[in-house]
Amino acid sequence: MISKKMIPLVNNNSVIRAMFEEGKQMAEKYGAENVYDFSIGNPNVPAPEAVKKAIMDIMENEDPVKVHGYMSNAGFPETRAAIADNLNRRFDTHFTEKNIIMTVGAGSALNVLLKTALDAGDEVVTFAPYFVEYGNYVANYDAKLVVVPANPEGGFMPRTDKFAEAITPATKAVIINNPNNPTGVIYPESVIKEIAAVLTAKQEEYGHVIYLISDEPYRELAYGGAEVPYLTKYYDNTLVGYSYSKSLSLPGERIGYIVIPDESDEAEQFIEAATIANRVGGFVNAPSLMQLVIARCVDEKCNVEYYEKNGKTLYDGLTEAGFSCVKPEGAFYLWMKSPVEDEKEFVQAAKKYNILMVPGSSFAGPGYVRISYCVSYEQIERALPKFKELAKEYGL
Ligand code: PLP
Repeated sequence: MISKKMIPLVNNNSVIRAMFEEGKQMAEKYGAENVYDFSIGNPNVPAPEAVKKAIMDIMENEDPVKVHGYMSNAGFPETRAAIADNLNRRFDTHFTEKNIIMTVGAGSALNVLLKTALDAGDEVVTFAPYFVEYGNYVANYDAKLVVVPANPEGGFMPRTDKFAEAITPATKAVIINNPNNPTGVIYPESVIKEIAAVLTAKQEEYGHVIYLISDEPYRELAYGGAEVPYLTKYYDNTLVGYSYSKSLSLPGERIGYIVIPDESDEAEQFIEAATIANRVGGFVNAPSLMQLVIARCVDEKCNVEYYEKNGKTLYDGLTEAGFSCVKPEGAFYLWMKSPVEDEKEFVQAAKKYNILMVPGSSFAGPGYVRISYCVSYEQIERALPKFKELAKEYGL
C-alpha cells in the first residue's frame, strides 16, 4: 500500500515523461526520422571534448580511493573553490568554497534549499508558467506553492503587481527561473530590480526573511550575448541552484551546486544546515567523479549557437506558417500559442503528423504549447512542412 501523499503523484505522472515514452514507441513504429519529438529537454549537443579528456585523465592519474570515495557532504574543496573563482571572475561576486555546496543537479539543489528553509505550512511563490516539478518539490516539505498568474500581454515577464499580492505572512521563499523553462524568455535587470524591491518591502512589512531562490540550469544558454543578471547582487537573501545538466550537456550525470552568499540571513548556520540536508535527504554527496571533472572543466561551454540556430529556424518557420510564438532568447524552448483554447486538443491533433509537443497546462500555462528544440537541425527542417499542414487544418 503506497503512501497517501504518493497517490496524486502516481495519478498525475508527468505528461512530459509520458510523451517521451510515446515518442520512443512512435519511433519504433514509424522510424525515428519520421517522428518529430519536441517533448523533453534532453540536450542533443554533446558534452565538450574536455569533459571526456578530464574523465580519462582522472581515471589514469588520480588516486582511485579519492575518485570513488566519500568526501565532505558539501563536496570536494577544490571543485567548490574553482566554481567560486569562476563566478567571482564573471559576476564580480566574492564567494569562497564555503559558499558553495555540490549537489545532484538542480533538482537536488532546489530540494536541499527548500528542506533547509521550509517548515510545514510555509508558502513558496513562483511565476506561471513554471517548471512542473516545483509543486512536487515544495510539497515534499509540506509547504504550499502559490502561483502568480502568467503575463501573456507582457511577453511572459513576471507580473510584479500580482507578485506583491501573492506574498503573505506565510511566504518563506520565491522561486525564479531565468532563462525560463518553458517560455524561453530572459528576465532583464529592470524586472529583477522590481522583484528585489517587492521582496525588500515585504521582508520589512512582515519582519522575517523571504528567500529568493534562483533556479539556473539555463544560465549559460543565453542567445546573442544577452545578459542574465546574477541575482545575489540585487537581493541579499538570494540562494542559487545551478546545474551542469544543460550547460555542459550532462543531465544523466547529476551534477550541480548551490550558492549561499555571506550576505544572506544567518549564512553560516544556513550553510551548515544545507550540508546536513544534502546528507539526510539521501543525496549524501554529489557524484565524486563528476565533481573532479567540474574542477577541471569549470570554464567550458556547450555549443549555445547550435540551440540559437534551431530556435531561430523554428520561430521563423512557425510564424511564417501562421502560428503565434514567443521569440526564444535562451534555454531551448519555444512557447507557442495554441490556435484553439484547449491546447490539449491541439497537441492531440499534432500527433497525426507525428509531432510531439507538451501542453502548456503542464506548466500552468494553458492555451500554449512548449516545443523543446534540443533536437537535430534536420528534425526541425523535416518537421516544418508538417507544422504547415497542421496550421492549415486550423485555417491559419
Ligand atoms: N529547473 C528547471 C527549470 C528545469 O528545466 C530542470 C530540468 O529540466 C531542472 C530544474 C532540473 O534539472 P537537473 O537535471 O539539473 O536536476
